[in-house]
Amino acid sequence: MIALIASIFLLLSTNNEIISKKENVMKFELVKLPYETNGLEPVISKQTIELHHGKHLQAYVNNLNNLIPGTKFENADIETIIRESDGAIFNNAGQVLNHDLYFTQFSPKGGGEPTGKLAEAINATWGSFEKFKSEFEAAGVSLFGSGWAWLAKDKDGKLVITKEANGSNPVKNGLTPILGFDVWEHSYYLDYQNRRADHIKALWQIIDWEVVGKRY
Ligand code: MN
Repeated sequence: MIALIASIFLLLSTNNEIISKKENVMKFELVKLPYETNGLEPVISKQTIELHHGKHLQAYVNNLNNLIPGTKFENADIETIIRESDGAIFNNAGQVLNHDLYFTQFSPKGGGEPTGKLAEAINATWGSFEKFKSEFEAAGVSLFGSGWAWLAKDKDGKLVITKEANGSNPVKNGLTPILGFDVWEHSYYLDYQNRRADHIKALWQIIDWEVVGKRY
């Protein structure tokens, strides 16, 4: 989804011979924001979006693109890389997917409640949207250190809330990620300082349930 084929032409000159070599290397790109950088205020400030998307995520994308060449992941998609890698490649690939899903799940006109099949599945699993929200918030608040709270589904469509440390993502365990709250301090510290719980509660106001529902 975020990859393009970058064609690199290498011209090698050897003993008056010109050898033209073309290499296709998968390159990951910074996901485009579907809103202005100030579009999510006051829930997330313009400054936080600029740093989080433009600096933190850009660094994960750059790191991944620097780490991949020469490995078996040169033409792998992001989910495959996350499932099969470890170490620095896993950390950066996880954070690229995490943030692609994160930044595209918000809207200045967000909020409200899920509808359709996702709403039915949430109600079937937790009894109500309110009960789901409180369990999801508890997962984000109780996660020790840096990481993510995710709503994910298994192969049969069963919903679960997972807590992922650092850059991990539910795909590592064969699940499909649907909704993710970033609880790294870089996601909220400028706006909420130590008040992680207040930040998490405020995020519901900007969730684009149409986008999230399509992931289910
Ligand atoms: Mn982040």
